Amino acid sequence: MTNILYDALFAPHAQNDAVFLTRDDGSQVSYADFVARVAQLAHVLADAGVKPGDRVVVQAPKLLDTIALYGAAVQTGAVYLPLNTAYTQSELRYFINDAAPALVVCDASSAEEVRGLCADGAQVLTLSAAGDGSLSLQADTKPTAFTTVPRGPDDLAALLYTSGTTGRSKGAMMSHKNLLSNAQSLTDLWQITADDRLIHALPIFHTHGLFVALNTSLLAGAQVRFMAAFDVETIIAELTHGTLLMGVPTFYTRLLADARLNSDLVRKMRLFISGSAPLLAETHTAFETRTGHRILERYGMTETNMITSNPYDGERLAGTVGYALPGTEVVITDDGQPVPAGQIGMIEVRGDNVFQGYWNMPEKTAEELRDTGFFITGDLGVSTDDGRISIVGRQKDLIISGGYNIYPKEVEEVINDIDGVVESAVFGIPHPDFGETVVAVIVPADMAMSTAPIAAHVQAQLARFKHPQRYIIADALPRNTMGKVQKNVLRAAYGPG
Ligand code: ATP
Ligand code: MG
Repeated sequence: MTNILYDALFAPHAQNDAVFLTRDDGSQVSYADFVARVAQLAHVLADAGVKPGDRVVVQAPKLLDTIALYGAAVQTGAVYLPLNTAYTQSELRYFINDAAPALVVCDASSAEEVRGLCADGAQVLTLSAAGDGSLSLQADTKPTAFTTVPRGPDDLAALLYTSGTTGRSKGAMMSHKNLLSNAQSLTDLWQITADDRLIHALPIFHTHGLFVALNTSLLAGAQVRFMAAFDVETIIAELTHGTLLMGVPTFYTRLLADARLNSDLVRKMRLFISGSAPLLAETHTAFETRTGHRILERYGMTETNMITSNPYDGERLAGTVGYALPGTEVVITDDGQPVPAGQIGMIEVRGDNVFQGYWNMPEKTAEELRDTGFFITGDLGVSTDDGRISIVGRQKDLIISGGYNIYPKEVEEVINDIDGVVESAVFGIPHPDFGETVVAVIVPADMAMSTAPIAAHVQAQLARFKHPQRYIIADALPRNTMGKVQKNVLRAAYGPG
């Protein structure tokens, strides 16, 4: 037995002297040194008693050792479990109880608190930006080679919790094959090579920054400009020598707000990719006008890795997420039955990219993962005759008022078209007669904007049952770290009592 993920992403670089990663302070690490560091950390895991299949929880800053630890987990057959650095102690308690890890790695500053949560035996080691955390210090003394532990393609490589946008985060069990197959499809489709230099400004506890960005770079041997956090100044400086940017839509709106963004600045850039949340068509158009680049939008989720992508060579259409990735099947269904092109339905997906089920949630797994292998994503979409997919929204956000279905995105698009509106969020709140009623929160360019012309415009464009009963002006929409609008926060804020 081999270890397909380690053998594809890490082993080939053992003698590779090319630069893997450049940090904010300009210091660089070669691929060979990175693989050696992975081995040192693998020794630490093995010496700490971490066995194949054991979970390693990691809530740590965005450091070289944090990603080397991912490699070490893969090499030792352990299950890497990264957590959002913003999670508080009580949130951490849930994840530690749920995942029952053998080892928890955290920032040196939170070690005391985390030890208190690990009463039942998990060990705690630390990382810190200064490099003096206990995990790093132990690794410094270890040999730079480690005998890779064999794993099967269906063995778990990671337990990745969903973003918690619609409820409590669920642990998605990702196998070696799930991760590798998706990295291969994306590297191929987006033509990522060793000549690329990726501007990496995403967090590394989420599928986007961890698997989409890093697994493809490792597979291709690309350079990674590893930014500790998203920062417009740094990105503007990096755009002159990078080739590839992977971002969430807010990256692009923030870049557009900077007058220095123009086609000259990005002349070396090859590809701008967006995902994790819907990219407004307006952002897509404005970005092309300013830079000459059409952003490539793709769609995916924690449970499935990436599902669809706009084409690299073909047309990148604003408002669509493109076609199913090679090796991935997408069907749009109603009550489990495929619907014709042009009709809205549930997006279902099958392929080597689809996860092994939810950790500790056999019932939820059985509800969402069919015997046929199709996973019911919870996202509603529509397909053209030739298979181009557009996302309509989440089924959980669908508003049913007086028996009619209202798709928030349709109403949001009408509102967003109005001059002076920056963006909007439409959602349902409970109503005694209609079941639900529609509410719109609007972010205007000028806070003095009145809601009357907005209501008049919507009335002229949409059927009466879709009209919001309330329009609320706000200076921003609540978003999580991945730029997703938190409609549950809006429902709680503007819902009844
Ligand atoms: P939870 O499942 O815990 O409620 P979540 O679904 O936000 O949280 P993720 O797995 O991080 O957790 O996000 C996946 C979701 O993000 C998809 O199901 C989809 O709704 C949304 N998404 C991802 N890419 C896009 C995109 N390009 N356009 C629109 N929505 C997208
Ligand atoms: Mg989800």
